[in-house]
Amino acid sequence: MSDESQELGITESKSHKPGEWYAEVVQKANLADYAPMGGFIVTKPRGYALWEAIQDALDGWFKETGVDNVYFPMFIPESFLEREKDIVEGFDPEVAWVTQGGHDELEERLAVRPTSESIIAPFMADWTRSHRDLPLRLNQWCSVVRWEATETKPFFRTKEFMWQEGHTAHATNESAWEEVWTRLDQYERVYEDVLAIPVLRGKKPEHDKFPGADTTTTVEALMPDGKSVQGATSHNLGQSFAEAFDITYADEDEDEKTAYTTSWGLSWRAIGALIMTHSDDQGLVLPPTVAPTQVAIVPIWQEDTKEDVLEYSQEIADDLEEAGFRVELDDRDERNPGFKFNEHELNGVPLRLEIGPYEVEDEEVTLVHRPDNEESVEDRDEIVDAVDEHLETIYDKLYQAAEENLENNVREAHSPEEILGTIGKHGGYVKTSWCGDEACEEAIKEKIAAEIVMQPLDDEGGRTAGEVPEPDRDECGVCGDPADEIAYFAKSY
Ligand code: AMP
Repeated sequence: MSDESQELGITESKSHKPGEWYAEVVQKANLADYAPMGGFIVTKPRGYALWEAIQDALDGWFKETGVDNVYFPMFIPESFLEREKDIVEGFDPEVAWVTQGGHDELEERLAVRPTSESIIAPFMADWTRSHRDLPLRLNQWCSVVRWEATETKPFFRTKEFMWQEGHTAHATNESAWEEVWTRLDQYERVYEDVLAIPVLRGKKPEHDKFPGADTTTTVEALMPDGKSVQGATSHNLGQSFAEAFDITYADEDEDEKTAYTTSWGLSWRAIGALIMTHSDDQGLVLPPTVAPTQVAIVPIWQEDTKEDVLEYSQEIADDLEEAGFRVELDDRDERNPGFKFNEHELNGVPLRLEIGPYEVEDEEVTLVHRPDNEESVEDRDEIVDAVDEHLETIYDKLYQAAEENLENNVREAHSPEEILGTIGKHGGYVKTSWCGDEACEEAIKEKIAAEIVMQPLDDEGGRTAGEVPEPDRDECGVCGDPADEIAYFAKSY
């Protein structure tokens, strides 16, 4: 390798130093840079393209299921934030405040939104008059600010992050639950069908719910380093926000009733999970679903074959582009093929086509899969179908590897020693019976920085909170007291 390509390439190792490796991939694959203020990032075009891919998928599904997009101000008057007391308390340590406008002190402090329930709910109250106005489903794509105390990490945990936040109001609790499941289904689908990451569905323990929520449901993804990522959350807010902000409606008999509300959000943390799950020591690995470039064509020529090779490559690029693939023909004169291979690997292009004089002569194309370098040769005439199939195979390879990691890393434990030992040795999830006392979580957290990341919903990963499966043992895995809940402990991002 030349000095130059060494500088380009990844120097840290994913298995030995996942933190450093991750930071290097983010920067060298040109996804993001650090901003001058600690905890903030600058998202570069290739990183933003990943966010757009996620956004396109989710936004389409939201609209298919009755959601309208809106935009509310980024500032929330302090008095509004104070109307729902759990929100104030829950977010208090993380709120950034504006106290001055121009040269003038403001009469009332403005919070930079850490989440928008408190500014959206009063308007939902205005817009909800009768049962015919419900359900009301709003969503906004925006950024929020949370002054995180823990160490920040590009995409996974930043002080300002991009997300979508959905806010809905319903006539019945049943309708609110339906909403919660619809959104959790869509989050599961974006992880599994777009990002090639299998997830577990669950709910958060009582003490870790979203401030003001009745129930917080979550999708959790397991990273190769054995840590869990909270992939997205869907909250049933019950009537706490409706009561605080007077979201009422007239039912069929003209009686005034209080509505039920939900909120649900997915942030660019999903990009962090994507990078962490699939990428390797050569750099970024992306599923074809989100890759800004799906196919890189690298022509390999000598002076005497250049014209033929380039013409043949161009025709193939045109065919693929016409068929709708995102293609880059890398015909740069000043770079040799080896350099180009490394660069496309680093950038996570899922499929590489190599075209030299032999391919031209035999009317063939050589294809190389990014994740494992598997090489095959296909007929020129069949190239469009072949590329389609290969991209699908690449998606399946990535999904299967992640699925294997998840399936092999859910273990049971029945004593504190076993819980600590299992997480210490293998990482992953440790499933145990739990008495429901937060102190038991604290006892584990103190020793190994693992926490209860989720509790199962039911046997099918399912629908009705309340129908949780029976624990395997009726004694808490930590304190030994009677237990009727199940908890999944894990280290988390
Ligand atoms: P919440 O409103 O707290 O339920 O958060 C909604 C989603 O945003 C969570 O599921 C997280 O995945 C994500 N999230 C929370 N905090 C951050 C952060 N500091 N940076 C990036 N994503 C975050």
